Amino acid sequence: LTSSNVLEKNDAYLIGVDVGGTNLRVGVIQQCNVVWAERIHADFSAFCRTHAGEAALDSILDTLARAIREAQTRYPAVCAAGIGFPGFIDPMTRRIIQSPNLPGLTDVDLLTPLSKTLNLPVGIENDALAAAFGEYVVSGQEHRESLIYLGLGTGVGGGLILEGRPYPGTHGVAMEVGHIIIESDGRPCGCGNRGCMEQYASASGVALTYAELAGGWQGMDSSLVAALARKGDTHASRAFERAGEALAQGLATILKVVDVSRVVIGGGMSQSWDLMHAAFRDRLEADLIPALRGRIHIDVSRSADQAGMIGAAMLAAPRA
Ligand SMILES: [Zn+2]
Repeated sequence: LTSSNVLEKNDAYLIGVDVGGTNLRVGVIQQCNVVWAERIHADFSAFCRTHAGEAALDSILDTLARAIREAQTRYPAVCAAGIGFPGFIDPMTRRIIQSPNLPGLTDVDLLTPLSKTLNLPVGIENDALAAAFGEYVVSGQEHRESLIYLGLGTGVGGGLILEGRPYPGTHGVAMEVGHIIIESDGRPCGCGNRGCMEQYASASGVALTYAELAGGWQGMDSSLVAALARKGDTHASRAFERAGEALAQGLATILKVVDVSRVVIGGGMSQSWDLMHAAFRDRLEADLIPALRGRIHIDVSRSADQAGMIGAAMLAAPRA
């Protein structure tokens, strides 16, 4: 599947669902355009931490079914739905193998019950890969270019479009960049290791860094830390600088493996990119192979709210 044949074939109405850490976005997509969209509060992450696997799964299925049905009601002509989901998706069975930020969801099939309930073909793809594909098609890439997408949210997700093709990996775990280790003996991570990039570069990482520096501010939201940084709080500024450095450390490692020239930064925390950018740029230049210095184009997503939905619809929704 390449971006060009997706665009050629598809003028149908498709539903795209982007499942985030605390919100879910559902939209109706035609070509690359969002014709209707809605944001629904759905804290799957917190729910999974406080409920048993089966109850959490039922709740997730129910929320997804309601969101998709809402779109079906408004656009009865929709012919399929695609879900961008934060987890590893088995490339063959389309089951969720594991979801580091949604504990308890292991080897789970969302598609069979959803397709049956909704009487609609439903597909699933990793959320960051879907967002990467959304960014790729929205930017109108024509020359089968390569692109790396980094999504800064509850965790740090990554997606790779390699010469025009989305690359999920043989086991569905390509670009799990949030778990690149950047600090030996660093903060413990949900994946079982320590010092993973997302423990510093994600929204929760920023909150943790701020709590460490300021002392006793556990549970502070990253948007509050951003507001403090903009008022001149040095601990808050430093927390975002650390996030920028951590992201650069991870990205420099990725670019040593996958040589691309275009990187798009998205996700909710990309709104605070101005607070991270200088530290990110300095660290990236220092860590890159000299041949790549000054040659990587970094863009902040201009369609952060929509890229995940568009990509989920265009990449994951099954088509006849
Ligand atoms: Zn990890």
